[in-house]
Amino acid sequence: MNYYEEAAKQIPIKAEVDVLVIGGGPAGFSAAISAARRGMKTMLIEQAGDVGGVATTGLMSHWTGNTKGGFYEELLDRSSELPEENKSLSHNGSYRQIINPETLKTVMLQMLDEAGVILQLYTFASDAIVEDSTLKGIITESKSGREVIYSKIIIDASGDGDIAAKAGAPFIKGREDDGKMQPMTLMFKVAGVDTSKAVFPGGFEDNIEIPRGLIQNLGSANIPHPAGHVLLYRTTLPGVVSCNMTNCIGVDGTKAEDLTHATFVCRSQMTPIIKFLRDFVPGYENCFPISSASVIGVRETRHFIGEYTLTKEDILEAKIFEDWIVTKAHFNFDVHNISGSGLDETGAQKHFTQPKGYTIPYGCFVPQKIDNLLLAGRNISGTHLAHSNYRVMPICVNMGHAVGIAAALCIKENVVPRDLCAKKIQAILKVEGVQP
Ligand SMILES: Cc1cc2nc3c(=O)[nH]c(=O)nc-3n(C[C@H](O)[C@H](O)[C@H](O)COP(=O)(O)OP(=O)(O)OC[C@H]3O[C@@H](n4cnc5c(N)ncnc54)[C@H](O)[C@@H]3O)c2cc1C
Repeated sequence: MNYYEEAAKQIPIKAEVDVLVIGGGPAGFSAAISAARRGMKTMLIEQAGDVGGVATTGLMSHWTGNTKGGFYEELLDRSSELPEENKSLSHNGSYRQIINPETLKTVMLQMLDEAGVILQLYTFASDAIVEDSTLKGIITESKSGREVIYSKIIIDASGDGDIAAKAGAPFIKGREDDGKMQPMTLMFKVAGVDTSKAVFPGGFEDNIEIPRGLIQNLGSANIPHPAGHVLLYRTTLPGVVSCNMTNCIGVDGTKAEDLTHATFVCRSQMTPIIKFLRDFVPGYENCFPISSASVIGVRETRHFIGEYTLTKEDILEAKIFEDWIVTKAHFNFDVHNISGSGLDETGAQKHFTQPKGYTIPYGCFVPQKIDNLLLAGRNISGTHLAHSNYRVMPICVNMGHAVGIAAALCIKENVVPRDLCAKKIQAILKVEGVQP
Protein backbone atom coordinates (compact mmCIF):
# COMPACT_ATOMS: atom_id res chain seq x y z
CA MET A 1 0.00 0.00 0.00
CA ASN A 2 1.20 3.54 -0.73
CA TYR A 3 1.02 6.17 2.00
CA TYR A 4 0.50 9.91 2.23
CA GLU A 5 2.41 11.57 5.03
CA GLU A 6 0.12 13.97 6.83
CA ALA A 7 1.68 17.22 8.06
CA ALA A 8 1.48 17.81 11.82
CA LYS A 9 -1.48 20.00 12.74
CA GLN A 10 -2.88 21.50 15.92
CA ILE A 11 -6.20 19.94 16.91
CA PRO A 12 -8.59 21.91 19.13
CA ILE A 13 -9.43 20.41 22.52
CA LYS A 14 -13.20 20.15 22.46
CA ALA A 15 -13.78 18.89 25.99
CA GLU A 16 -12.20 17.47 29.13
CA VAL A 17 -14.54 15.13 30.98
CA ASP A 18 -14.55 12.51 33.71
CA VAL A 19 -16.07 9.70 31.67
CA LEU A 20 -16.18 9.49 27.88
CA VAL A 21 -18.30 6.79 26.27
CA ILE A 22 -17.77 5.81 22.62
CA GLY A 23 -20.95 4.50 20.97
CA GLY A 24 -24.57 5.05 21.96
CA GLY A 25 -25.82 1.48 21.47
CA PRO A 26 -27.48 -0.49 24.30
CA ALA A 27 -24.19 -0.78 26.20
CA GLY A 28 -22.86 2.76 25.69
CA PHE A 29 -26.21 4.42 26.34
CA SER A 30 -26.56 2.69 29.70
CA ALA A 31 -22.89 3.18 30.63
CA ALA A 32 -23.20 6.93 30.02
CA ILE A 33 -26.36 7.23 32.12
CA SER A 34 -24.90 5.09 34.88
CA ALA A 35 -21.73 7.21 35.12
CA ALA A 36 -23.64 10.51 34.91
CA ARG A 37 -26.05 9.44 37.66
CA ARG A 38 -23.03 9.13 39.94
CA GLY A 39 -22.12 12.75 39.43
CA MET A 40 -19.50 12.23 36.73
CA LYS A 41 -19.13 14.76 33.95
CA THR A 42 -19.99 12.29 31.19
CA MET A 43 -19.86 12.64 27.44
CA LEU A 44 -21.28 10.24 24.86
CA ILE A 45 -20.01 10.23 21.27
CA GLU A 46 -22.09 8.53 18.59
CA GLN A 47 -21.37 8.35 14.87
CA ALA A 48 -25.04 8.02 13.85
CA GLY A 49 -27.80 10.61 14.03
CA ASP A 50 -29.65 8.66 16.72
CA VAL A 51 -28.71 6.78 19.83
CA GLY A 52 -29.63 3.12 20.32
CA GLY A 53 -27.21 1.36 17.98
CA VAL A 54 -28.59 -1.87 16.57
CA ALA A 55 -31.73 -1.42 18.72
CA THR A 56 -32.80 1.67 16.75
CA THR A 57 -30.71 2.45 13.65
CA GLY A 58 -30.51 -1.33 13.15
CA LEU A 59 -34.36 -1.48 13.23
CA MET A 60 -34.36 -4.25 15.81
CA SER A 61 -37.43 -6.36 16.45
CA HIS A 62 -37.16 -7.16 20.16
CA TRP A 63 -34.98 -7.47 23.22
CA THR A 64 -33.90 -11.12 23.27
CA GLY A 65 -32.87 -13.27 26.20
CA ASN A 66 -32.95 -11.79 29.65
CA THR A 67 -31.32 -10.57 32.80
CA LYS A 68 -32.94 -9.75 36.11
CA GLY A 69 -32.73 -6.42 37.90
CA GLY A 70 -30.62 -3.54 36.78
CA PHE A 71 -30.98 -0.79 34.26
CA TYR A 72 -32.48 -2.98 31.51
CA GLU A 73 -35.74 -3.21 33.51
CA GLU A 74 -35.87 0.57 33.86
CA LEU A 75 -35.34 1.05 30.13
CA LEU A 76 -38.03 -1.50 29.36
CA ASP A 77 -40.44 0.25 31.76
CA ARG A 78 -39.81 3.54 29.98
CA SER A 79 -39.93 2.32 26.38
CA SER A 80 -42.17 -0.73 26.16
CA GLU A 81 -45.43 -0.19 24.29
CA LEU A 82 -47.02 -3.53 25.19
CA PRO A 83 -46.95 -3.86 28.95
CA GLU A 84 -48.63 -7.22 29.29
CA GLU A 85 -48.02 -10.57 27.69
CA ASN A 86 -50.88 -11.70 25.53
CA LYS A 87 -50.61 -15.43 25.62
CA SER A 88 -53.37 -15.87 23.03
CA LEU A 89 -51.01 -14.48 20.36
CA SER A 90 -47.90 -16.31 19.26
CA HIS A 91 -44.65 -14.48 19.88
CA ASN A 92 -41.14 -15.51 20.68
CA GLY A 93 -40.62 -14.06 24.16
CA SER A 94 -42.42 -11.47 26.23
CA TYR A 95 -44.66 -8.85 24.63
CA ARG A 96 -42.94 -6.18 26.71
CA GLN A 97 -39.73 -6.98 24.83
CA ILE A 98 -41.04 -5.95 21.40
CA ILE A 99 -39.25 -2.77 20.31
CA ASN A 100 -40.73 0.16 18.46
CA PRO A 101 -37.43 1.73 17.33
CA GLU A 102 -39.08 5.10 16.71
CA THR A 103 -40.30 5.29 20.31
CA LEU A 104 -37.04 3.96 21.66
CA LYS A 105 -34.95 6.62 19.87
CA THR A 106 -36.84 9.42 21.63
CA VAL A 107 -37.01 7.71 25.03
CA MET A 108 -33.26 7.12 24.99
CA LEU A 109 -32.56 10.76 24.13
CA GLN A 110 -34.84 11.89 26.95
CA MET A 111 -33.15 9.59 29.45
CA LEU A 112 -29.68 10.81 28.47
CA ASP A 113 -30.86 14.39 28.84
CA GLU A 114 -32.41 13.72 32.26
CA ALA A 115 -29.15 12.17 33.47
CA GLY A 116 -27.16 15.19 32.27
CA VAL A 117 -25.04 13.30 29.74
CA ILE A 118 -23.28 15.56 27.21
CA LEU A 119 -24.28 13.97 23.93
CA GLN A 120 -22.63 14.53 20.57
CA LEU A 121 -24.18 12.74 17.61
CA TYR A 122 -22.75 12.60 14.07
CA THR A 123 -19.28 12.22 15.55
CA PHE A 124 -16.86 9.38 14.79
CA ALA A 125 -14.18 8.43 17.32
CA SER A 126 -11.23 7.94 15.00
CA ASP A 127 -8.05 7.74 17.05
CA ALA A 128 -6.67 7.16 20.52
CA ILE A 129 -4.30 9.40 22.46
CA VAL A 130 -2.08 7.04 24.45
CA GLU A 131 0.82 7.91 26.72
CA ASP A 132 2.82 5.10 28.38
CA SER A 133 0.02 2.55 27.88
CA THR A 134 -2.54 4.93 29.38
CA LEU A 135 -5.45 6.11 27.24
CA LYS A 136 -5.71 9.85 27.80
CA GLY A 137 -8.26 10.86 25.20
CA ILE A 138 -9.53 10.43 21.69
CA ILE A 139 -9.62 12.25 18.38
CA THR A 140 -13.00 12.70 16.74
CA GLU A 141 -14.02 13.53 13.18
CA SER A 142 -17.25 15.38 12.45
CA LYS A 143 -18.71 18.32 10.57
CA SER A 144 -16.97 20.44 13.21
CA GLY A 145 -13.64 19.08 12.03
CA ARG A 146 -11.08 17.05 13.90
CA GLU A 147 -11.25 17.56 17.68
CA VAL A 148 -9.71 16.14 20.86
CA ILE A 149 -11.62 14.98 23.92
CA TYR A 150 -9.65 14.19 27.06
CA SER A 151 -11.18 11.96 29.70
CA LYS A 152 -10.15 10.37 32.99
CA ILE A 153 -11.83 7.08 32.02
CA ILE A 154 -12.91 6.01 28.52
CA ILE A 155 -15.51 3.33 27.93
CA ASP A 156 -15.38 1.77 24.47
CA ALA A 157 -18.92 0.64 23.67
CA SER A 158 -18.58 0.97 19.90
CA GLY A 159 -19.42 -2.68 19.27
CA ASP A 160 -16.22 -3.06 17.26
CA GLY A 161 -13.97 -1.58 19.94
CA ASP A 162 -12.54 0.97 17.49
CA ILE A 163 -10.76 3.05 20.13
CA ALA A 164 -9.56 0.07 22.17
CA ALA A 165 -8.01 -1.29 18.96
CA LYS A 166 -6.38 2.05 18.09
CA ALA A 167 -5.05 2.27 21.64
CA GLY A 168 -3.30 -1.07 21.22
CA ALA A 169 -5.48 -3.29 23.41
CA PRO A 170 -5.02 -6.89 22.22
CA PHE A 171 -7.93 -8.61 20.45
CA ILE A 172 -8.88 -11.42 18.13
CA LYS A 173 -11.57 -11.25 15.48
CA GLY A 174 -14.36 -13.84 15.18
CA ARG A 175 -13.77 -17.55 15.68
CA GLU A 176 -10.62 -18.59 17.48
CA ASP A 177 -9.49 -21.06 14.79
CA ASP A 178 -10.04 -19.12 11.55
CA GLY A 179 -11.16 -15.57 12.46
CA LYS A 180 -14.47 -15.96 10.62
CA MET A 181 -17.31 -13.81 11.95
CA GLN A 182 -21.07 -14.19 12.14
CA PRO A 183 -23.03 -12.98 9.06
CA MET A 184 -24.47 -9.48 8.73
CA THR A 185 -28.16 -8.69 8.26
CA LEU A 186 -30.13 -5.67 7.13
CA MET A 187 -33.36 -5.72 9.13
CA PHE A 188 -36.54 -4.60 7.36
CA LYS A 189 -40.26 -4.40 7.98
CA VAL A 190 -43.25 -5.34 5.88
CA ALA A 191 -46.79 -4.00 6.28
CA GLY A 192 -50.09 -5.32 4.97
CA VAL A 193 -49.80 -8.59 6.92
CA ASP A 194 -52.96 -10.30 8.13
CA THR A 195 -51.61 -11.04 11.60
CA SER A 196 -54.67 -13.12 12.50
CA LYS A 197 -53.47 -15.73 9.97
CA ALA A 198 -49.74 -15.06 9.98
CA VAL A 199 -47.03 -17.30 11.41
CA PHE A 200 -44.01 -15.97 13.35
CA PRO A 201 -41.05 -18.36 13.31
CA GLY A 202 -38.75 -16.77 15.90
CA GLY A 203 -35.82 -19.20 15.71
CA PHE A 204 -34.09 -21.25 13.06
CA GLU A 205 -35.45 -24.41 14.66
CA ASP A 206 -39.05 -23.16 14.37
CA ASN A 207 -39.83 -25.20 11.26
CA ILE A 208 -43.55 -24.48 11.21
CA GLU A 209 -45.85 -26.49 8.90
CA ILE A 210 -47.52 -24.20 6.35
CA PRO A 211 -49.71 -25.28 3.39
CA ARG A 212 -46.82 -25.92 0.97
CA GLY A 213 -44.48 -27.60 3.45
CA LEU A 214 -42.13 -26.77 6.36
CA ILE A 215 -41.37 -23.07 6.45
CA GLN A 216 -37.59 -23.27 6.92
CA ASN A 217 -37.25 -25.91 4.17
CA LEU A 218 -39.34 -23.77 1.83
CA GLY A 219 -37.24 -20.70 2.66
CA SER A 220 -34.01 -22.53 2.06
CA ALA A 221 -35.27 -23.79 -1.34
CA ASN A 222 -36.84 -20.54 -2.56
CA ILE A 223 -34.81 -17.63 -1.19
CA PRO A 224 -31.43 -16.93 -2.84
CA HIS A 225 -28.32 -18.13 -0.95
CA PRO A 226 -26.81 -17.12 1.46
CA ALA A 227 -30.22 -15.95 2.73
CA GLY A 228 -32.78 -18.73 3.17
CA HIS A 229 -33.95 -18.84 6.81
CA VAL A 230 -37.30 -17.41 7.87
CA LEU A 231 -37.33 -15.26 11.02
CA LEU A 232 -40.45 -13.09 11.46
CA TYR A 233 -41.43 -11.03 14.50
CA ARG A 234 -44.52 -9.16 15.58
CA THR A 235 -44.26 -5.42 16.03
CA THR A 236 -46.37 -3.01 18.04
CA LEU A 237 -47.97 -1.69 14.83
CA PRO A 238 -51.03 -3.20 13.13
CA GLY A 239 -50.19 -5.43 10.15
CA VAL A 240 -46.45 -4.70 10.43
CA VAL A 241 -43.87 -7.48 10.83
CA SER A 242 -40.08 -7.34 11.35
CA CYS A 243 -38.00 -9.56 9.06
CA ASN A 244 -34.58 -10.79 10.18
CA MET A 245 -33.97 -12.64 6.91
CA THR A 246 -31.31 -10.96 4.77
CA ASN A 247 -27.86 -12.51 5.15
CA CYS A 248 -24.32 -11.72 4.04
CA ILE A 249 -21.45 -14.06 4.90
CA GLY A 250 -17.65 -13.74 4.77
CA VAL A 251 -17.57 -10.05 5.70
CA ASP A 252 -15.62 -8.07 8.29
CA GLY A 253 -17.50 -5.24 10.06
CA THR A 254 -14.27 -3.32 10.68
CA LYS A 255 -13.81 -2.70 6.94
CA ALA A 256 -15.84 0.00 5.15
CA GLU A 257 -15.72 -1.91 1.86
CA ASP A 258 -17.17 -5.04 3.51
CA LEU A 259 -19.93 -3.00 5.17
CA THR A 260 -20.77 -1.53 1.77
CA HIS A 261 -20.75 -4.96 0.10
CA ALA A 262 -23.00 -6.42 2.83
CA THR A 263 -25.45 -3.53 2.47
CA PHE A 264 -25.62 -4.17 -1.28
CA VAL A 265 -26.05 -7.95 -0.88
CA CYS A 266 -28.76 -7.63 1.79
CA ARG A 267 -30.71 -4.94 -0.04
CA SER A 268 -30.65 -7.13 -3.17
CA GLN A 269 -32.21 -9.96 -1.18
CA MET A 270 -35.20 -7.94 0.05
CA THR A 271 -37.31 -8.23 -3.12
CA PRO A 272 -36.94 -12.04 -3.45
CA ILE A 273 -37.63 -12.46 0.29
CA ILE A 274 -40.84 -10.42 0.03
CA LYS A 275 -41.86 -12.45 -3.04
CA PHE A 276 -41.28 -15.63 -1.01
CA LEU A 277 -43.41 -14.32 1.86
CA ARG A 278 -46.24 -13.35 -0.52
CA ASP A 279 -46.11 -16.66 -2.43
CA PHE A 280 -45.63 -19.12 0.42
CA VAL A 281 -46.47 -17.78 3.87
CA PRO A 282 -50.06 -17.49 5.14
CA GLY A 283 -51.04 -13.97 6.17
CA TYR A 284 -48.26 -12.36 4.06
CA GLU A 285 -50.05 -12.59 0.68
CA ASN A 286 -50.38 -8.80 0.39
CA CYS A 287 -47.32 -7.66 2.31
CA PHE A 288 -45.07 -4.86 1.09
CA PRO A 289 -41.87 -3.25 2.42
CA ILE A 290 -42.22 -0.11 4.54
CA SER A 291 -38.85 0.46 6.18
CA SER A 292 -35.34 -0.90 6.46
CA ALA A 293 -32.47 -0.34 8.86
CA SER A 294 -30.35 2.71 8.13
CA VAL A 295 -27.20 0.67 8.83
CA ILE A 296 -26.24 -2.93 8.17
CA GLY A 297 -26.43 -5.06 11.33
CA VAL A 298 -23.04 -6.38 12.40
CA ARG A 299 -23.15 -9.30 14.82
CA GLU A 300 -19.51 -9.98 15.55
CA THR A 301 -16.09 -8.39 15.05
CA ARG A 302 -13.36 -7.90 17.67
CA HIS A 303 -13.16 -9.81 20.94
CA PHE A 304 -10.70 -8.01 23.22
CA ILE A 305 -8.42 -9.99 25.48
CA GLY A 306 -9.33 -8.96 28.99
CA GLU A 307 -8.15 -9.81 32.47
CA TYR A 308 -10.64 -12.69 32.13
CA THR A 309 -12.18 -14.25 29.00
CA LEU A 310 -15.71 -15.64 29.34
CA THR A 311 -16.14 -19.12 27.84
CA LYS A 312 -18.91 -21.38 26.63
CA GLU A 313 -18.27 -23.60 29.67
CA ASP A 314 -18.82 -20.69 32.08
CA ILE A 315 -22.23 -20.15 30.49
CA LEU A 316 -23.14 -23.83 30.43
CA GLU A 317 -22.24 -24.12 34.13
CA ALA A 318 -24.21 -20.91 34.89
CA LYS A 319 -21.10 -19.88 36.81
CA ILE A 320 -21.30 -17.32 39.59
CA PHE A 321 -17.94 -15.54 39.59
CA GLU A 322 -16.54 -13.94 42.74
CA ASP A 323 -16.10 -10.69 40.81
CA TRP A 324 -19.49 -10.78 39.03
CA ILE A 325 -20.78 -7.47 37.75
CA VAL A 326 -23.51 -8.74 35.37
CA THR A 327 -25.86 -11.34 36.77
CA LYS A 328 -28.67 -13.69 35.75
CA ALA A 329 -27.79 -13.34 32.09
CA HIS A 330 -29.72 -15.85 30.03
CA PHE A 331 -29.82 -16.70 26.35
CA ASN A 332 -28.65 -19.47 24.01
CA PHE A 333 -25.70 -19.95 21.64
CA ASP A 334 -27.09 -17.91 18.77
CA VAL A 335 -24.43 -18.52 16.14
CA HIS A 336 -25.77 -17.74 12.67
CA ASN A 337 -24.38 -20.03 10.00
CA ILE A 338 -20.92 -18.72 9.13
CA SER A 339 -21.10 -20.21 5.63
CA GLY A 340 -24.80 -20.04 4.72
CA SER A 341 -28.26 -19.52 6.14
CA GLY A 342 -29.85 -20.79 9.37
CA LEU A 343 -28.12 -21.87 12.57
CA ASP A 344 -24.42 -22.69 12.57
CA GLU A 345 -23.51 -26.26 13.49
CA THR A 346 -21.92 -24.92 16.69
CA GLY A 347 -25.07 -23.01 17.70
CA ALA A 348 -27.91 -24.13 19.98
CA GLN A 349 -31.27 -22.41 20.22
CA LYS A 350 -34.04 -24.79 21.32
CA HIS A 351 -31.36 -27.29 22.29
CA PHE A 352 -29.68 -24.94 24.74
CA THR A 353 -30.35 -26.76 28.00
CA GLN A 354 -29.12 -24.56 30.87
CA PRO A 355 -32.18 -22.87 32.42
CA LYS A 356 -30.13 -20.83 34.94
CA GLY A 357 -28.56 -17.49 34.15
CA TYR A 358 -24.80 -16.90 34.32
CA THR A 359 -22.69 -14.03 35.59
CA ILE A 360 -20.01 -12.01 33.80
CA PRO A 361 -16.94 -11.10 35.85
CA TYR A 362 -15.37 -7.65 36.01
CA GLY A 363 -12.19 -8.95 34.34
CA CYS A 364 -14.05 -9.31 31.01
CA PHE A 365 -14.48 -5.51 30.89
CA VAL A 366 -10.85 -4.65 31.64
CA PRO A 367 -8.63 -4.99 28.56
CA GLN A 368 -5.07 -6.15 28.93
CA LYS A 369 -2.18 -3.71 28.45
CA ILE A 370 -4.06 -0.38 28.28
CA ASP A 371 -5.06 1.66 31.34
CA ASN A 372 -8.00 4.05 31.85
CA LEU A 373 -10.02 2.00 29.36
CA LEU A 374 -13.12 -0.13 30.00
CA LEU A 375 -15.10 -2.20 27.52
CA ALA A 376 -18.89 -2.65 27.36
CA GLY A 377 -21.21 -4.50 25.00
CA ARG A 378 -20.47 -7.08 22.36
CA ASN A 379 -16.73 -6.19 22.29
CA ILE A 380 -15.91 -7.43 25.85
CA SER A 381 -13.55 -10.32 26.48
CA GLY A 382 -15.23 -13.60 25.60
CA THR A 383 -14.81 -16.46 23.20
CA HIS A 384 -16.67 -16.63 19.89
CA LEU A 385 -19.26 -18.98 21.41
CA ALA A 386 -19.70 -17.09 24.68
CA HIS A 387 -20.17 -13.91 22.62
CA SER A 388 -23.02 -15.53 20.66
CA ASN A 389 -24.89 -15.58 23.97
CA TYR A 390 -23.97 -12.33 25.78
CA ARG A 391 -24.24 -10.20 22.60
CA VAL A 392 -28.01 -9.81 23.06
CA MET A 393 -29.19 -6.36 24.05
CA PRO A 394 -30.64 -6.89 27.58
CA ILE A 395 -27.29 -8.30 28.67
CA CYS A 396 -25.41 -5.44 26.93
CA VAL A 397 -27.60 -2.87 28.73
CA ASN A 398 -26.75 -4.32 32.12
CA MET A 399 -23.07 -4.46 31.16
CA GLY A 400 -23.25 -0.70 30.61
CA HIS A 401 -24.95 -0.19 33.97
CA ALA A 402 -22.12 -1.97 35.79
CA VAL A 403 -19.28 -0.44 33.76
CA GLY A 404 -20.64 3.08 34.33
CA ILE A 405 -20.45 2.39 38.08
CA ALA A 406 -16.91 1.03 37.68
CA ALA A 407 -15.80 4.16 35.80
CA ALA A 408 -17.22 6.45 38.49
CA LEU A 409 -15.59 4.42 41.27
CA CYS A 410 -12.19 4.52 39.52
CA ILE A 411 -12.37 8.32 39.43
CA LYS A 412 -13.58 8.68 43.03
CA GLU A 413 -10.90 6.32 44.33
CA ASN A 414 -8.19 7.47 41.93
CA VAL A 415 -7.40 3.96 40.72
CA VAL A 416 -7.07 2.46 37.24
CA PRO A 417 -9.81 -0.02 36.25
CA ARG A 418 -7.40 -2.95 36.66
CA ASP A 419 -6.93 -2.10 40.34
CA LEU A 420 -10.59 -1.51 41.21
CA CYS A 421 -12.09 -4.05 43.59
CA ALA A 422 -15.21 -5.57 41.98
CA LYS A 423 -16.87 -5.91 45.42
CA LYS A 424 -17.30 -2.14 45.43
CA ILE A 425 -19.17 -2.28 42.12
CA GLN A 426 -21.26 -5.14 43.50
CA ALA A 427 -22.20 -3.16 46.62
CA ILE A 428 -23.74 -0.43 44.44
CA LEU A 429 -25.36 -2.90 42.05
CA LYS A 430 -27.03 -4.69 44.97
CA VAL A 431 -28.58 -1.43 46.17
CA GLU A 432 -29.84 -0.93 42.61
CA GLY A 433 -31.55 -4.32 42.47
CA VAL A 434 -28.88 -6.53 40.91
CA GLN A 435 -28.27 -9.72 42.88
CA PRO A 436 -25.89 -12.61 41.98
C1 LIG B 1 -29.08 -8.21 12.54
C2 LIG B 1 -29.00 -8.36 14.02
C3 LIG B 1 -30.07 -8.89 14.72
C4 LIG B 1 -30.03 -8.97 16.10
N1 LIG B 1 -31.14 -9.41 16.77
C5 LIG B 1 -31.22 -9.21 18.10
C6 LIG B 1 -32.44 -9.39 18.78
O1 LIG B 1 -33.47 -9.74 18.20
N2 LIG B 1 -32.45 -9.14 20.13
C7 LIG B 1 -31.33 -8.77 20.81
O2 LIG B 1 -31.44 -8.55 22.04
N3 LIG B 1 -30.15 -8.64 20.19
C8 LIG B 1 -30.07 -8.82 18.85
N4 LIG B 1 -28.89 -8.62 18.19
C9 LIG B 1 -27.65 -8.37 18.95
C10 LIG B 1 -27.56 -6.96 19.47
O3 LIG B 1 -28.33 -6.06 18.71
C11 LIG B 1 -26.12 -6.43 19.53
O4 LIG B 1 -25.22 -7.42 19.88
C12 LIG B 1 -26.09 -5.29 20.55
O5 LIG B 1 -26.83 -4.20 20.01
C13 LIG B 1 -24.69 -4.88 20.90
O6 LIG B 1 -24.77 -3.70 21.66
P1 LIG B 1 -23.55 -2.70 21.70
O7 LIG B 1 -24.01 -1.52 22.47
O8 LIG B 1 -22.33 -3.44 22.12
O9 LIG B 1 -23.28 -2.33 20.15
P2 LIG B 1 -24.17 -1.63 19.04
O10 LIG B 1 -25.61 -1.87 19.22
O11 LIG B 1 -23.54 -2.08 17.74
O12 LIG B 1 -23.88 -0.09 19.25
C14 LIG B 1 -22.61 0.46 18.98
C15 LIG B 1 -22.79 1.95 18.72
O13 LIG B 1 -21.52 2.54 18.56
C16 LIG B 1 -21.52 3.41 17.44
N5 LIG B 1 -20.15 3.45 16.93
C17 LIG B 1 -19.44 2.44 16.40
N6 LIG B 1 -18.20 2.83 16.13
C18 LIG B 1 -18.10 4.14 16.49
C19 LIG B 1 -17.07 5.09 16.44
N7 LIG B 1 -15.83 4.76 16.05
N8 LIG B 1 -17.32 6.36 16.86
C20 LIG B 1 -18.57 6.70 17.31
N9 LIG B 1 -19.60 5.81 17.37
C21 LIG B 1 -19.36 4.55 16.99
C22 LIG B 1 -22.51 2.77 16.49
O14 LIG B 1 -23.02 3.70 15.57
C23 LIG B 1 -23.56 2.23 17.44
O15 LIG B 1 -24.56 3.18 17.72
C24 LIG B 1 -28.88 -8.55 16.80
C25 LIG B 1 -27.78 -8.04 16.10
C26 LIG B 1 -27.84 -7.93 14.73
C27 LIG B 1 -26.68 -7.32 14.02
